[in-house]
Amino acid sequence: MTRPVFRFAPSPNGQLHLGHAYSALLNQRMAREAGGRFLLRMEDIDVTRCTPELERGVLRDLAWIGLRWEEPVRRQSDHFDDYRAALERLIDADLVYPAFMSRGEVRARIAEHEAGGERWPRDPDGAPLYPGEDRHMSARERQALIDEGAPFAWRLDMASAIAHVGNTLDWDETGQGPEGEAGRVRARPESWGDVVIARKEIPASYHLSVVVDDALQGITHVVRGRDLFHATAVHRVLQELLGLSVPQYHHHDLVLDDDGRKLSKSRGDTSLAALRESGATPGDMARMVGGP
Ligand code: GLU
Repeated sequence: MTRPVFRFAPSPNGQLHLGHAYSALLNQRMAREAGGRFLLRMEDIDVTRCTPELERGVLRDLAWIGLRWEEPVRRQSDHFDDYRAALERLIDADLVYPAFMSRGEVRARIAEHEAGGERWPRDPDGAPLYPGEDRHMSARERQALIDEGAPFAWRLDMASAIAHVGNTLDWDETGQGPEGEAGRVRARPESWGDVVIARKEIPASYHLSVVVDDALQGITHVVRGRDLFHATAVHRVLQELLGLSVPQYHHHDLVLDDDGRKLSKSRGDTSLAALRESGATPGDMARMVGGP
C-alpha cells in the first residue's frame, strides 16, 4: 500500500498567524495518525508580494511551533515550466481565452447591468463573475490586442470546461463545508464563472498551480481551511481536464478573532512572530489551536 501524503502550503506574502498554526499542526497530526508523509510547499507564484525574507519568516515560525517536514520544500516559483505546460494544454484544447477587461471595466459593466434593477451573479467568495464577452472575440481581434501589448489574463471558459467533463463531478470530503457539506460532495464549478487560470506574465494562478502540484507531489490528502471549500469545485474541473489525480479533502474550522472574523495576514496582532516576541511558547501555540 502506498503511504498517504499530506502537505501544508502557505503563501509567503505576509506573516503567519494562529490560523496557519492550526492548519499546519492539524495537517501534521493527521499525517502522523495515518502513518503518512508530510510535505511543505511554498505557494509563491505572486513574485511581487512573496519575498525571500517573508519566506524565511514562515520557515522560522513553522519550525518554532514544532512543525517537521520533508526536505526539499517545493517552491512554486521554481516550477513555472510545469504550470506553463498545463496552461498550454488548456490553450490547445480551446478551453481558456485571453480576457482583456480591466477591473474598472468589469465594475462599470456590472454597475450598468445592476442599474437596470437586476443583480449581477456573484461567486462563492462574493466577487462578481467575469462578464466574459471577450470569450467570443475573433482570433484576429485577440491577436491585434496582444500585439498592441494589452494586459490580459487567461480565463477558463467554464461553460465549455463543464461541457467537456460533465456536470457530475464530486469529491470526498472528510471535514465539512460552510453548510455542513460532508461525505461525497457535488462540485458546483458553474458558481465561479470564468476563473483566472494564468496571467500574462505568470503562467499560473492559485487554482492551476495547486492542482498541478498536488498531483506532481502525489498528495493524497488535502487538509486546509474551510474558506477554500468552494474552490475545490474549480480544482476538480482542472483535475479532470488535465487528467490529474484527485486527493481526499478535509476542510477544517477557521480560527476567528474575538469579533468572530477570520484572521488576516495584514493584522499583526495574532501573528506567530508577535506571539513569540510577547513570550508565548510552542506549547502555548499547540494548546491555543487545540493540539496536544
Ligand atoms: N496557499 C494557500 C493559502 O495560503 C493554501 C492553498 C491550499 O491549501 O490549497 O491560503
